[in-house]
Amino acid sequence: MGAPFLFWVLRGMADIALPMKLLNYINGQLNEPLSGKWLNNIEPATGLVYSQIPDSTAEDLQAAMEAASAAYPAWAATEAAERSRIMLRIAHLIEENLELLAQAESQDNGKPVGLARVMDIPRAAANISFFATAILHQNTETHYNQGHSLNYTLRQPIGVVGCISPWNLPLYLFTWKIAPALAAGNTVIAKPSEITPLTAFLFSQLCIEAGLPAGVLNIVHGRGGQIGQALTEHPKVKAISFTGGTATGKVIAATAAPMFKKLSLELGGKNPNIIFADCDWEDMLNTTIRSSFANQGQICLCGSRIIVERSVYERFKTDFVARVKQLRIGDPSEDVNIGAVVSEPHMNKILGYIESARQQGAQILTGGNRVQVPGRCANGYFLEPTVIDGLGADCNLNQEEIFGPVVTIIAFDTVEEALDIANGTPYGLAATLWTQNLTRAHQMAEKLDSGIVWVNCWLVRDLRTPFGGVKQSGVGREGGWEALKFFTEAKNVCIKL
Ligand code: NAP
Repeated sequence: MGAPFLFWVLRGMADIALPMKLLNYINGQLNEPLSGKWLNNIEPATGLVYSQIPDSTAEDLQAAMEAASAAYPAWAATEAAERSRIMLRIAHLIEENLELLAQAESQDNGKPVGLARVMDIPRAAANISFFATAILHQNTETHYNQGHSLNYTLRQPIGVVGCISPWNLPLYLFTWKIAPALAAGNTVIAKPSEITPLTAFLFSQLCIEAGLPAGVLNIVHGRGGQIGQALTEHPKVKAISFTGGTATGKVIAATAAPMFKKLSLELGGKNPNIIFADCDWEDMLNTTIRSSFANQGQICLCGSRIIVERSVYERFKTDFVARVKQLRIGDPSEDVNIGAVVSEPHMNKILGYIESARQQGAQILTGGNRVQVPGRCANGYFLEPTVIDGLGADCNLNQEEIFGPVVTIIAFDTVEEALDIANGTPYGLAATLWTQNLTRAHQMAEKLDSGIVWVNCWLVRDLRTPFGGVKQSGVGREGGWEALKFFTEAKNVCIKL
């Protein structure tokens, strides 16, 4: 990748007089917004504006739609092997530029660069290569009715589809959506979060370099309520794949459902992390630190409610809090465990929950405050990892998604009680169980209202598995064949024998 790319991702861009401008990627080219209006993009670790993104409008979306519609027939007709080759080139370019992309993600989101290096960027490359190769192995069903008929199923691309992704794992979740859409032969209009647009912009440069045909992927930056809404409303968008908050998911469903669009909604979570006394204590503690605070707790799968068997409740509090106190908070470009949360409003929302816990008489076992990081990060949005005890299972902190470095601890006495607490929220995304009793694990896995159950692990992902939530955590499944099914229409062809 050439010099412009390097220029974009260098830290300290705030020293340069002009904020850098990120551009829309429409019809294979990088374009300014037609309105000429821009939005500021803030670096969470410094609180400073370091770039601007297009404040795109319906006119930009229309240009993207025209490009995507024009590109669709040829892309849909391109042999899967050729689509796969182009996508693999993109995946290789991500790998080649891993360090630069990791730094960009860290700067844009506030996450520790070390996390972006080992998780976000490698996973973005894996998403693309997984679906680029999965499409080569896709098969469909036949149904043979002896002497009467032969049925076979065609799986055909849908057309122009919309992909809307959030800020917490920007390139990771952006590629998780567009990869199966493109592999299946659709053309795509994608809207990354306005809060973390940088790696999607860099990705558009990689697509150009990889020779992705013009119009196959179009990336339109801007505000959710404006450009995301316009994308959802556009009559020519046949399907919407959305990852984000439950409230936004409701708005999207209300808009898209009466238009009979296909919808995949990956929404919020309030995930239980259930710990039994018989678990491997060290393994549980090490993983629970990650499942509580990785990415500043801003992962939809984080186990924000830690539900602990009463016989080991006090031991857990002591051991866990001791480890939490060892976490290093600071400049995400350095070797830290906890970086900045994504924005000032989000930081204030999290602090509001902690204040609410205090008012309800909870004990803050550790954390609970904003952190001042000296030097270039003096105005950054840093929060202490926070552990809260003494709240009822039905209070707001145990029912609502906080999406920050805050966990609560609740005791249980019986398996039934643990299940009641775990299932007692409107959400149902992921649950974690810690026990050496395999029978108990199987029995509880069956009874947990959850799209994913991890036993003695967390965030162990195999891209072939179905991914998604129940209740208000989402509708539909992504991952593996589920994603390729979503991005295709099944057609039954019946031949009389
Ligand atoms: P969000 O506010 O719902 O935004 C998600 C995306 O939707 C952004 O690109 C946003 O654009 C856009 N958007 C906002 N309003 C829209 C509208 N009316 N129509 C169409 N698009 C619209 O979510 P977030 O705060 O970015 O992300 C955090 C949430 O995502 C959490 O609830 C988390 O649990 C959830 N999440 C779920 C999963 C999962 O797999 N289930 C994974 C990761 C995150 P702007 O940013 O420009 O507003």
